[in-house]
Amino acid sequence: MTRAEIFAPDFTTDPYWWREAGPRNMPERPLPSRADIAIVGAGGTGLAVALPLARAGRSVVLLEATRPGQGASTRSGGNVSRTLKASFPELVHRYGEERAVDYYREAGLAIEHLSRVIEEEGIECGYRRQGRYYAAHNGHAYETLGRSAETLRRRVGYEVEMIPRAGQRAHIGSDSYHGLQLVKGPAILHGATFYAGMLDRTLAAGAEIHARTRVTGIRRETDGFEVTTSRGTIRADDVVVATNAETGADNPLFGWLRRRVLPIRAFVCATEEVEAERMARILPGGRTVITTHKVLFHIQPSPDRKHLLFGGWAGRNGVGLTAMAADLHRYFTEHFPDFGGLRIAHAWEGHFAYTFDALPHAGMRDGVHYILGDCGTGIPLFSWLGHKTALRILGRTEEAKSAFDGLNFPTLPGYSGNPWFVPAAVRWYAARDALPF
Ligand SMILES: Cc1cc2nc3c(=O)[nH]c(=O)nc-3n(C[C@H](O)[C@H](O)[C@H](O)COP(=O)(O)OP(=O)(O)OC[C@H]3O[C@@H](n4cnc5c(N)ncnc54)[C@H](O)[C@@H]3O)c2cc1C
Repeated sequence: MTRAEIFAPDFTTDPYWWREAGPRNMPERPLPSRADIAIVGAGGTGLAVALPLARAGRSVVLLEATRPGQGASTRSGGNVSRTLKASFPELVHRYGEERAVDYYREAGLAIEHLSRVIEEEGIECGYRRQGRYYAAHNGHAYETLGRSAETLRRRVGYEVEMIPRAGQRAHIGSDSYHGLQLVKGPAILHGATFYAGMLDRTLAAGAEIHARTRVTGIRRETDGFEVTTSRGTIRADDVVVATNAETGADNPLFGWLRRRVLPIRAFVCATEEVEAERMARILPGGRTVITTHKVLFHIQPSPDRKHLLFGGWAGRNGVGLTAMAADLHRYFTEHFPDFGGLRIAHAWEGHFAYTFDALPHAGMRDGVHYILGDCGTGIPLFSWLGHKTALRILGRTEEAKSAFDGLNFPTLPGYSGNPWFVPAAVRWYAARDALPF
């Protein structure tokens, strides 16, 4: 296919979401000399911590290296999961069924929390709990989905339905997959208007946000912390690191954290407007489809159902963004016949943070709080863990408890924060995904 057949004339590498809300320019203000809480990073996670603290009357300062909304939080695919990156069978194998159930229940609590926040705060972000299909890429994957469906239903209270290959066409416009698992409850939202809504409410609650203020050091003192930034120094009683995949600053504390997160390059595309009849042929069920490949693909309607958003091949390197977008276009053209001929209007990229156990981590290191390692499902999970961290700082320890408390935050010997081996691992997993069993 020619470039003109794949890309719309007004193609841009800005995220589709930025049409309605882009990164925010903030007026430059002097840095205060002290605050109750200093938060490093003003992405969605930083805001999730800041809002309840500011509402509780604490002085909160968010220190942001770039502009609010420049990071991953407005680059997402807008999918709101009620699962974890680590699959349920994987967690049962690693920790036993009890703990796997606890982790998956917590993922359920995270999405309920997010739904409540959006409703109570009145954030207009196209939030819809439309459910999700997991599309089995081979027969073995369908059997595995079937087995986990039963346990998820019984132990975690999931509403799950298995749809065999013969009935698949009523739900998705593809014959490529070996059956579907339909999970009720997962949602979609508009990645940037949700962020903008949280930002407005956090500012209205009295938190200060300092853009273009990079934190370069955090020093523990007898009565709190001294935080050094590119624009001066601030003292704080508590410090929260919410830098996720951007955890790369050169100081000893970040060094410990950096050795535990793997920044992963991820891509999303949005098509030109799709006619309603064609949309109904591609996604008759109107829900997000996520494949069971280890290196997965996803496709979903935009919140207004006028565009298709799709992505995949996270972790691939050495390929430019437009070449990546063209490859993804080819994948969906091959697997969804009615997709052919749709042009890409937006293709963008960003980084999420993987961890060595594929679980999110919220805890404390040398007295500093951190929330890191979203593994690509940070919209619900980090809203939840950010809220829990705020409760911990407020001393509401019982409410702050989480199934993820006390989880060892693993690294690998010799790993210093540069995941050079990920592209090779992605190639290996992609080759394994292509096997018919
Ligand atoms: C392409 C893509 C698609 C995704 N799709 C989904 C999805 O569909 N569903 C989902 O749940 N999740 C998705 N994610 C993940 C989701 O976007 C993240 O989990 C979430 O945005 C993490 O928010 P955050 O605030 O922790 O990180 P960010 O939004 O990245 O914010 C971190 C901030 O920290 C700042 N910072 C870093 N270092 C410093 C420093 N030294 N000093 C000051 N500031 C600093 C950065 O500038 C940045 O603004 C996706 C991610 C990407 C990249």
